[in-house]
Amino acid sequence: MPPLFSNKVVAVTGAGSGIGRAISLGLVREGATVHLADRDAEGLAETADLIRSEEGRAFTIQLDVSSELQIEDWIEQIGSMSGRLDAAFNNAGITGPAKRIEDYPLEDFQRVIAVNLQSVFLGMKYQIPLIKRSGGGSIVNTASVAALTGPGGMSAYAASKHGVQGLTRVVAMENAAHRIRVNAIAPGWTETPMVVANSEQNPGFAALVQTAIPAKRGGKPEEIAAAAIWLASDAASYVTGHMLTVDGGMTIGG
Ligand code: NAD
Repeated sequence: MPPLFSNKVVAVTGAGSGIGRAISLGLVREGATVHLADRDAEGLAETADLIRSEEGRAFTIQLDVSSELQIEDWIEQIGSMSGRLDAAFNNAGITGPAKRIEDYPLEDFQRVIAVNLQSVFLGMKYQIPLIKRSGGGSIVNTASVAALTGPGGMSAYAASKHGVQGLTRVVAMENAAHRIRVNAIAPGWTETPMVVANSEQNPGFAALVQTAIPAKRGGKPEEIAAAAIWLASDAASYVTGHMLTVDGGMTIGG
């Protein structure tokens, strides 16, 4: 099979770790030139080194995905450096604290919404015109199983991820006739630094793997990346406005 992304230019946020790193590496193996963004310069450099060790092409930028100015500049830079944009993965995110709503500080709520939801709004706002000028393409936003459920203590996170699904549907609707597909992935419990840090704070997480995941294990970042890359590729050419759950069966039982 020919590579899914040869001669394609792809943008990925949250590329310095976890799922974003696995997506970036997977894309390069499918022939893409990638533009990678993250607030963590060190993580970003590690991802770029991994890509270059496989002779891949990667450009990196340190930015905060919640900043309109920084996202606008980045997409403009992609346009002037690569002349096009074929696909984008709006993937950066944070969990925020685990607290009941009556104890949840407003500033934490606002930060989680800014990083997880405003970032997806801003990403698509600036990616869509460039993808349109490139003749079409696709976007995949990272939601979560928390877009389908209401995990206690995670009000900001769940609200942000439900919002990602809503934004995904709206932008899919607005762009279906412009040859741009817009989808989301909803990962379940995936073994990345985000979840490892969370399980250290919250021992309940480890027990959850055995009781709540029919597959009896967490997902690997590469397993989430494979689904996201398929969704962004021409192999999914008639799929739009969809949120693909990749969770080892975690949400089968409702
Ligand atoms: P991770 O912590 O390994 O990676 C997240 C990356 O996003 C980090 O490199 C971080 O520096 C970057 N980032 C965070 N805030 C940023 C900001 N303001 N600007 C730019 N970059 C920023 O976590 P991950 O598990 O790979 O998470 C990736 C996405 O997957 C997130 O949207 C997360 O909510 C989602 N997700 C993860 C899981 C899981 O179990 N790991 C489950 C469902 C959804």
